[in-house]
Amino acid sequence: MQNNIDSTLPVFIIGAGIAGVACARKLQENGRKVIILEAKSSIGGRINSRKIDSDIFDLGASWIHGIDNNPIWSITQENNIETTTLNYGNSHYFHKNGKLFSEKEVQEFESYVEKIEKLLYQTKKTSALDAIKEIIFSLSYMGNTFSEDYLKKLLLSFFERIANDPFATELDLLSSKYQNYEGYFQGDEVIFPKGYYQVIECISKDINIKLNIDVKKIIYDDDYIKVIDCSENIYMGSHVVVTVPLGVLKRNNIEFYPPLPNEYIHSIQSIGFGSFNKVFFELDQSIQLGLKTLEKNISSFYWEDTDCFNILDLSKMYQKPTYLMLFGGDKSNFIDSSTDREVSDFIFNGLQKQFDGISDKPKKIIVTRWGADPYSYGSFSFPSLNHNDDLIKILHKPIKEILFFAGEHCSFKYAGTVHGAYLSGCEAAEKIKST
Ligand SMILES: Cc1cc2nc3c(=O)[nH]c(=O)nc-3n(C[C@H](O)[C@H](O)[C@H](O)COP(=O)(O)OP(=O)(O)OC[C@H]3O[C@@H](n4cnc5c(N)ncnc54)[C@H](O)[C@@H]3O)c2cc1C
Repeated sequence: MQNNIDSTLPVFIIGAGIAGVACARKLQENGRKVIILEAKSSIGGRINSRKIDSDIFDLGASWIHGIDNNPIWSITQENNIETTTLNYGNSHYFHKNGKLFSEKEVQEFESYVEKIEKLLYQTKKTSALDAIKEIIFSLSYMGNTFSEDYLKKLLLSFFERIANDPFATELDLLSSKYQNYEGYFQGDEVIFPKGYYQVIECISKDINIKLNIDVKKIIYDDDYIKVIDCSENIYMGSHVVVTVPLGVLKRNNIEFYPPLPNEYIHSIQSIGFGSFNKVFFELDQSIQLGLKTLEKNISSFYWEDTDCFNILDLSKMYQKPTYLMLFGGDKSNFIDSSTDREVSDFIFNGLQKQFDGISDKPKKIIVTRWGADPYSYGSFSFPSLNHNDDLIKILHKPIKEILFFAGEHCSFKYAGTVHGAYLSGCEAAEKIKST
């Protein structure tokens, strides 16, 4: 359709997360005038590196999930940003009495995890919970390392944890096809000792970003857009790219006029968006995991009753006994509405039962609450029950060639990641170029 868009007007981008900044950078390279409006007092969105005392903590994203061909890794390399490897692949496992799995137990446990993952591709069930339960109970257990009943419990709770991390939900709300949406690149997983923020800092140079602008309304006509902020300021542009988190869209915190077509509302409401929180803590003394090696930067899984937890030892990176725990779904919802003290009690009551010599509280604790953040209302998207690519395809279609959506939730293959958000921002810029 031919329109009369005035391309001398700026393109407005709502949100200065990685999607917004990537989109702005591409448009600017293509010679367009661009302005980003960001509600917070700083850029980065769910990339949020905070200096606390003398240390940097990534309260949002930490990892480049697989460095092979990952565009975020390219930015990191081009700008000489320091990273350190922290793979989940080499995890240790602990029984609920704190005893480390033997090598044979690890091999056997992981071989059953792989078996279940393969069988999951063939399931007819809708929910991941139904599918995994069915598979686990149909498996014939051949080994003699675990008791069958115990192994089945370990496996179910391990998959429950996968729903929490990396899908920010619970198994009964997760699509049984979730493996098609895991969206990581191959290669090492790396983190940033001096913060993920450096990535967004590099790519946002020379971009016009207006901070503390809380967008409340977007009016889109055939050939112009008007963006209105909470102080009633009006911004006139040629196009608008909305990169705010799905949680903000679900809550209708931005009013669209005319209202979004029903298919867009359906997509926004149907794509899953869950809470995922981090708890960093420092101890006086290292946790004695009883490992033979002096490995650091390691990941350990442990079980408390029927719950599986993961604890990451970041002592090597911080040069002091510092740990990170990651929570998704119900436990993360609990964190969103709890005090630091309540979160600390929850974690330390469990750790004390599990490992020797742990005090009843940490020296320092840092708790995120993304579900309570009014500019996010959650952490990232996930494939909910009955998820399909058509839901995402709709968000890819510009409305009147003038209103575009971008952000991690618009990625087919890489939802819930920094690279997915980045690529989605770049794609929106390409689409605008061709209007
Ligand atoms: C705890 C946590 C851990 C994670 N870990 C990883 C990881 O290790 N690796 C990985 O790849 N990914 C990870 N992710 C996911 C990753 O951070 C996101 O997918 C990605 O950063 C999203 O980028 P985005 O640009 O789509 O959205 P955002 O970064 O959320 O940017 C959207 C921006 O819109 C702004 N905004 C909202 N409402 C308004 C408004 N009304 N007006 C103006 N501006 C508004 C927000 O303030 C925000 O700055 C993690 C996320 C969380 C929360």
